[in-house]
Amino acid sequence: MAATLRHNNVKKLGEQPFDVLVVGGGINGAVAAASLAGRGVRVALIDRGDFASGVSSNSSNLAWGGIKYLETLEFLLVNKLCKSRNRLMRAYPSTVKEIRFLTTIQRGFRFPPFFIYLGSVLYWAMGRFATRAPRYISAGAIEAAEPVINTSKAAGGLEYSDCYLYDNDARFVFNFIRKSLNFGCIAANYVESISARREQGQWLTSARDVISGECFEIRSQALINACGPWVDTQNRIAGEQTQHHHVFSKGVHLVVDKITDNKRVLTFFASDGRLFFLIPMGPKTCIGTTDTQVDTPDVSVTDADRDFLLQNANALLDLQPPLTRESIIAERVGVRPLAIKAEGGVADWVQLSRKHVIEVDEPRQHLSIFGGKLTDCLNVGDEVAAWIECLGIDVPQMHNRWYGEPGAELRDEFMLQASLMKLDGLTDPSSSEPLSERFWRRYGESAFGLLERIRADEGEAKLLIKNAEYTRCEIELAARREMIVKLEDFMRRRSKIEEVVRREDIATAPGLLEACEILFGSDAQARLAEYREVLNRSA
Ligand SMILES: Cc1cc2nc3c(=O)[nH]c(=O)nc-3n(C[C@H](O)[C@H](O)[C@H](O)COP(=O)(O)OP(=O)(O)OC[C@H]3O[C@@H](n4cnc5c(N)ncnc54)[C@H](O)[C@@H]3O)c2cc1C
Repeated sequence: MAATLRHNNVKKLGEQPFDVLVVGGGINGAVAAASLAGRGVRVALIDRGDFASGVSSNSSNLAWGGIKYLETLEFLLVNKLCKSRNRLMRAYPSTVKEIRFLTTIQRGFRFPPFFIYLGSVLYWAMGRFATRAPRYISAGAIEAAEPVINTSKAAGGLEYSDCYLYDNDARFVFNFIRKSLNFGCIAANYVESISARREQGQWLTSARDVISGECFEIRSQALINACGPWVDTQNRIAGEQTQHHHVFSKGVHLVVDKITDNKRVLTFFASDGRLFFLIPMGPKTCIGTTDTQVDTPDVSVTDADRDFLLQNANALLDLQPPLTRESIIAERVGVRPLAIKAEGGVADWVQLSRKHVIEVDEPRQHLSIFGGKLTDCLNVGDEVAAWIECLGIDVPQMHNRWYGEPGAELRDEFMLQASLMKLDGLTDPSSSEPLSERFWRRYGESAFGLLERIRADEGEAKLLIKNAEYTRCEIELAARREMIVKLEDFMRRRSKIEEVVRREDIATAPGLLEACEILFGSDAQARLAEYREVLNRSA
């Protein structure tokens, strides 16, 4: 059970010294831990909430080369992000998938469509032609390709490729946490760093188990601050001075019923001149995003945010009936942590670069990870390992491959076994893809265990929660391996059920209690009641 895994890890955190403690379990912390553990370093990781409960579960779910930064002539950044995207595509072929972006340019926009098309050709070349080629589209052809687009003011458009994360950002992050656990990292969610001090060449971090309220100390030689938007706060409590700091830009997405059956990202420039996306999210569409300067990382969705997104979607699309606040199934909100040098003022917020910066305090063996993108995560992992070695900590397996899906041979073996037992024939008709594809993408080599369970009892392949694309054996696997402490961890982050199923349907879903019994044993009723309260509060 998840409780056993977490309970044992929390106990170990206070018992043994570590080479490195990572504070924060978003994408930056998760790749830092996976990269170090995968190279043989003794690592611990804590997050005060669930893994990926911060910005990393509120992104646009894109692994992209940053085409929009061409406008600000940040060629080096685009070149680097394109390379990072291609590396992710190669390492995660079933998770990081190419998708077409259909961009409509309105008459009177600051650049004519053909000029933007030429930019997309440059972008394609900077991406080493790893995706399908872009193509120019006339306004009439846009209408024919996607009748849902309002082309009354369209001057023309283009189609180009980038990538998206098939199962969502939070699941992508969790798979790095899981990978780090496989390599011996001691990770625990719901453990908060409340202060940290350097004593006799080691870090003593005071931590609090948020679930039990118990406090204890974690000893480590080096400390990595991967608290995302809260990096500055963590540095303050650790007495760390840094040249860089964060400023924040809030981004909101709304999830609504599917706008079109075509699996494409629809791209526009919104009324404020910024990029505006309609992104497929399983059986729904995700609309975003806003870009608002804020002073604090603790943000929520306001009516003004909702109205901005809904009004733009209604103006750019031909929707009958138009979208209203009642159309919203789920909301996502987070801040982009943007790194700035302390003394430099912020000239133009939107133009601020989204590059990551790793600031190192060598004498105190401390790293702070500022800014960044999901797309750049493998570089962050590599850079962290290089710095840890520079700080004099032994990295025994520096060249071990610490990321990526298992190789093609193992995949072929899995697919063969699945086809011999006719696994895909057991797929529920409501599912969007065959079981074999889903199992392999979500669980990699652990998916063999699922075949074993289904061979013993076909009932294990039954969907447990309606519309949720989760079978009984997957929930059993999640209970053992995914450190699910609250039902929300499962519904919102290990899966995307909460994002694609209406709250009222979730609350009354048959099978939810049974899922809770598998996940939480005798605590099932309490966890379900706690979750229903969360749903009611956010309704
Ligand atoms: C609207 C929006 C859209 C985006 N879209 C994309 C995109 O499409 N593609 C892309 O590549 N990037 C995108 N990004 C950027 C990307 O999502 C972020 O840069 C990235 O997720 C930041 O990860 P992080 O690990 O630094 O922070 P987080 O994910 O926030 O992780 C920090 C963690 O630290 C924990 N923490 C904080 N304080 C403590 C403490 N005291 N003790 C223990 N734990 C603590 C928090 O609980 C949190 O889980 C987007 C960002 C936004 C806001």
